[in-house]
Amino acid sequence: MSVRSNELNRNPLKAVDPELFSTITAERKRQQDNLIMIASENLVSRAVLEAQGSVLTNKYAEGYAGARYYGGCVNVDRAENLACQRAREIFEAEHVNVQPHSGTSANMAVFLAVLKPGDPILGMDLSHGGHLTHGSKVNISGRYYSSFSYKVEPGSCLLSLEEVRKTALKVRPKLLIAGASSYPRLVDYEGFAAIAREVGAIFLVDMAHTAGLTAGGVHPNPVLYADIVTATTHKTFRGPRGGMIFSRQQYAEAIDKAVFPGLQGGPLMHVIAAKAVAFKEAQLPGYAAYQEKVLANAAALAEALSSLGFTIVTGGTDTHLVLVDLRNKNISGMDAEKMLENVGIIVNKNVIPYDPKGANAPSGIRLGSPTLTSRGMMPSQMQEIAVLIEETLAGQSKSGHLDAIRRRVDNICLEYPAY
Ligand SMILES: *Cc1c(COP(=O)(O)O)cnc(C)c1O
Repeated sequence: MSVRSNELNRNPLKAVDPELFSTITAERKRQQDNLIMIASENLVSRAVLEAQGSVLTNKYAEGYAGARYYGGCVNVDRAENLACQRAREIFEAEHVNVQPHSGTSANMAVFLAVLKPGDPILGMDLSHGGHLTHGSKVNISGRYYSSFSYKVEPGSCLLSLEEVRKTALKVRPKLLIAGASSYPRLVDYEGFAAIAREVGAIFLVDMAHTAGLTAGGVHPNPVLYADIVTATTHKTFRGPRGGMIFSRQQYAEAIDKAVFPGLQGGPLMHVIAAKAVAFKEAQLPGYAAYQEKVLANAAALAEALSSLGFTIVTGGTDTHLVLVDLRNKNISGMDAEKMLENVGIIVNKNVIPYDPKGANAPSGIRLGSPTLTSRGMMPSQMQEIAVLIEETLAGQSKSGHLDAIRRRVDNICLEYPAY
């Protein structure tokens, strides 16, 4: 064998595409060398990576297990059946569709299944923590449907069911949506369900952020209260990037048809296999303990930041995420994001409810605990990181100050390997 074909066997990516190989190597290093506190991110297991990087990517399988438009689907049928069976068990669901390519695709499929263009939908205001796909004017959900939103209470920044109900009675939505991207508190799914019944709406919960918490048994299960529940598999759930839709049997056929052939072609069978692996992991004993730690770490972070003088939106958290209002620190969300990135702490700028600066210059940052918890960190590390955040944003311009913080970040990263 030639040197080159040897290298091709041993390290195919490096041999074929050194540029991309070094890009991925650099990204692996970035994930190891930084404290990643993006609330919507996580670290998947090596088993999930292996399944997602498998030969299942070669297979076309339009349709569903047992009813495909291609021959040769015996193995991918098995993979998809395993994924569905495990997902239904975990979330006590009557039906699941695991084919949506993302959380957004899952939401679009629900809309296609149960709405007609122009139908009224009611979701949480984007600038109060809702998601683009819940009726924002720049998203298809706000362009093809008649979208309305409910807001959190001024002051407390908490959702008020009375406010949701009042808006719902006025709007008479065909679809009522609960669930958010930056709301740190529990949502009363049962109360929402009662409002949906009262106004004759179909009730959708988008648990994109909290699916893992629910699967771990540390957060209520919206599948028990909603007609339809969408989720991502890559946020707290800790699986591959993708979406899924749970529903009552009554909506099963419409949703399956909306995903395929309504919205998508061939399913990503390698990703569906990786979802099956993540579902298996969610059924292992360590998973509940992991999700408990996710909550404990977010709570510790909120408490530590609060004691350092930061304003925590809603005063704390019931979830994996912490929303910080930076107005009393005289720093914008954008500047805070940049300063923290310089010392290796990765967060995102985020609007806060009733943000005086608007969405283009948000006054807050959003922090999350899932990735650091996947690395094994505990509340004591969250307290240490809160201090590093405070010292960074206090902006002491003494030379060497930021370098010293970066070294402390390096030490924590070294002690808790990502892989
Ligand atoms: C993240 C998120 C989504 C979209 O997920 P993608 O996979 O990024 O498309 C949908 N809804 C909510 C509430 C989210 O937070």
